[in-house]
Formats: sequence, C-alpha cells, structure tokens
Amino acid sequence: MSRNHTLFERARHSIPGGVNSPVRAFGSVGGTPIFFQRGQGASLWDADNTQYIDYVGSWGPAIVGHAHPEVIAAVQAAAVNGLSFGAPTEAEILIAEEIIKLVPSIESVRLVSSGTEATMSAIRLARGFTGRDKIVKFEGCYHGHSDSLLVKAGSGLLTFGTPSSGGVPADFTRHTLVLEYNNVEQLTQTFAELGDQLACVILEPFAGNMNLIRPSAEFVAALRELCTRHGAVLIYDEVMTGFRVALGGAQELHGIRPDLTTLGKVVGGGMPIGAFGGRADIMACIAPLGSVYQAGTLSGNPVAVAAGLTTLKLIQAEGFHARLGERTRQLVDGLAAAAREAGVTCSTDSVGGMFGLYFTAEVPRSYAEVMQSDRELFNRFFHAMLAEGVYLAPSAFEAGFVSAAHTEADIDATVAAARRAFAKLAA
Ligand code: PMP
Repeated sequence: MSRNHTLFERARHSIPGGVNSPVRAFGSVGGTPIFFQRGQGASLWDADNTQYIDYVGSWGPAIVGHAHPEVIAAVQAAAVNGLSFGAPTEAEILIAEEIIKLVPSIESVRLVSSGTEATMSAIRLARGFTGRDKIVKFEGCYHGHSDSLLVKAGSGLLTFGTPSSGGVPADFTRHTLVLEYNNVEQLTQTFAELGDQLACVILEPFAGNMNLIRPSAEFVAALRELCTRHGAVLIYDEVMTGFRVALGGAQELHGIRPDLTTLGKVVGGGMPIGAFGGRADIMACIAPLGSVYQAGTLSGNPVAVAAGLTTLKLIQAEGFHARLGERTRQLVDGLAAAAREAGVTCSTDSVGGMFGLYFTAEVPRSYAEVMQSDRELFNRFFHAMLAEGVYLAPSAFEAGFVSAAHTEADIDATVAAARRAFAKLAA
C-alpha cells in the first residue's frame, strides 16, 4: 500500500474525514487524497515522493511558487525574534501601507487571520455602519464559513435564503438574500423593493468557487450604481482575486471602486492572513475607534506578516502580472486545443493567474450554467491528470491557479499530459 493510503487510513482515526478542510477529501472526484510532504516552485512531492506540477497553489496563496527563497528567508528572520506578541509591531504598518498603495480604494485596513474572518468582519462592519440588517450575496459565491453566509438561494425572487449547512439556525440566514450572478434585472428589482434596507452586497468579483465565472461589465456597473444610490456598502471579496488577477485586484480590471474589500490568500503568502479595508469613514466604525467589535489574538502575527509583505514585494516586479497572465493563457489555450483534438467537449477561460476548465460547450456565466458541466468526465480527467503527475483542484467547481514559478516547460508538459488524458476519455 502506498504511504498516501497508509496516512489517509491513519488520519481518519484522529481527524474527521482525515482532513482539516472538506474539499481536500476528494469527496467529489473519489479516491484517496494526496498527502504532500514538500513543495518547491511549481512542484509538489507527495508522501510517496511522487512529483506533481501543482495548479492548486494552496488554493491561491502560492503566487510566487512554493518555498520561494526570499519568502522563506523573511519567515525565518521574523521567527527568531519571537512568534507572536499580541501587541503592535512595525511590520504591520509596512504591510498596511503596501496594501493601501496597491489597492487605492483601501484607505485603512485591518489584519485578521483568514479570509473567513475578513468577510465576516466586513459584513458586521457594513451592518454597523448602515444600521441595516439585510445583506445580498450571489449564488455559487463562497465567502468563508461564517453562519450568515452559508446560505442557499430561497425558492423565489426576494425570498431570503435557507441555511446550506447543519448547525446554522434559519434565524441567522433570515437576513441573507441570495441572487443570481450576472442577473442585472433581478438585482435592479431587488434594490427597487428593498434597497433602503440593505446593509451591503458582497461579491466575488471574478467568482472562483464555482469554477471561474466572469461578471459582465453591466453587472458590476449596476452593482456600483445601485449600492451608491441606496446607501448600501459594496464589498468586493477579493480573498481569491486580490493581487492575483491584477496587481490591484479585480477592482482594477473592472475600474470599480468598492466601499470595502476583503483580502486573504496571496496577502499572507502562504501564512494565515486575511484583511478587510476600504473607505476611511466606514473603517472608523471598527473598535477601538467605533462601536463595531472585531479582534484577534494572532492578528498581524509577525511571522505571517513577513511572508505576506515579502510576497507583495515580489509581485511588484516589472511585468509580473503580464507574464503570469500570458503563462495562464498558454495553459488554457493548450488544454482547449488538446480537448478539441480528442473530440472532447470542453471550454476554458482565464483572468490573470486564475483559470477555468469546464466540461461544457460554452464558457458558463452563472451557477446554473456551470452546474450543467459533465462532472463524471471531469472526475475521469482529474484522475488521468493525477496519474500523469499533474495536480488539479479535486472538484469540477473550483478555479485553477498558475504561479510565477510555472515555466513554459511546465505548461508544455501539462498540455502533453492533457492530450493523453483527453485521448483516454474519448476512448
Ligand atoms: N472568500 C473567498 C472568495 C474565498 O475564495 C475564500 C476561500 N476559498 C474565502 C473567502 C474564505 O477564506 P479562508 O478559507 O481563508 O477562510
């Protein structure tokens, strides 16, 4: 039996499902999750020392590749000075200033320890600032696992959502309205009826948690205009897209200035950091300045900040995002061509260092459309690629990630592997 198998069997005795986050369990693709022991650049090595080209990148943070020497050196240098003080440090100012410089809509920023904390806190802040309870999210978008965000759409327009998780009282999701991504008409109608009761709208500005889905220009423009008109806070959840789709995030590409932005993943460079920030007048409502409470023992942790700050410096290298976007496009064009050659129905998309591979004829634009994709075919493709030494996200409904460490040779090897994998599917 492989060491991966042995470890998974052992893990199941002490850890629920053998994993510390559910999508790692290979629940939708089947088979045994891979236990990794090491990463370097674009590669990962599993417990059996098998090497993979990695397109998960820890679900986004690994934008400069695994174990980048400068990031590791910064972490080591910070660690020898102590792991945590629960008191302010100079490095926190440096990372706050860097975030504010790179994302101009952020005038003031608070550090937390995960994306979940960032979005949960931003929503509390929006409610505190507006004095309103109701919030809007979109179907298929994920904003972490806080209670009021674990919601399924209600059965009709303007029906509030129902919990999508056990343990969440229906009362807690009573104020969460779930609308369709890219549906301008529904959004407009909702604002017409309820606009003055809405505290905020939270958006994945390129959705990455239902595979990659782009918003239309009309949709984001309508969001900005309606939130402004009705005094609702527009929250761009850039936990995934921040520093990844462009240096200034999705808002730079959209030309939209949200009121609040949430960050995670890349901002911590692989260490646990999340952040939320935005308009100074809204941020002034957070404790200790204002009445909205938010806190954290490990917030602004010096070792995590060292990793994040070094990563933010590295991604400002001249042409970093242009190269990353080009590499990612080479990958998806190669995958699409390989599928075509094999006669497999498949479409692709990418934005910056984020990509989508869909087993649908057309690139999907909504949750309903992406749900039409052929999951069985994806699962077979996933396992065929894994056998070829390519590690893709173990779900048909997750975006993929390319890093600056992926070389042209890595992309060529991946496309060659995909050609063989698609041929297997077609056979
Ligand atoms: N928001 C978005 C858009 C995300 O993609 C995620 C995580 N995938 C989160 C929030 C939650 O972040 P975390 O897992 O760090 O709590």
